[in-house]
Amino acid sequence: MVQAEDGRRNGIMFYVKETVSDSMDVTIEINDENVFCRCPRCGDEVQVDLQEILKEGDLFGTAVLCENCSLRLMGGYDIDE
Ligand SMILES: [Zn+2]
Repeated sequence: MVQAEDGRRNGIMFYVKETVSDSMDVTIEINDENVFCRCPRCGDEVQVDLQEILKEGDLFGTAVLCENCSLRLMGGYDIDE
């Protein structure tokens, strides 16, 4: 298998595949706008930049804090207040 130099030329790079029934499965393209995780501190939905994650580690060993929690962690204040 030869890895494409730039997968974007082919349209879809990576996608999620979920089997709905024996005769049907759904594929959803993963892009830079439709990947989310839950903030491990407050449970908020956080939009994830996969490129950043892959640069720093891996999907399963990385948790992404929401904006509030990362600000709180770095600066000790809460932007909600
Ligand atoms: Zn949070």
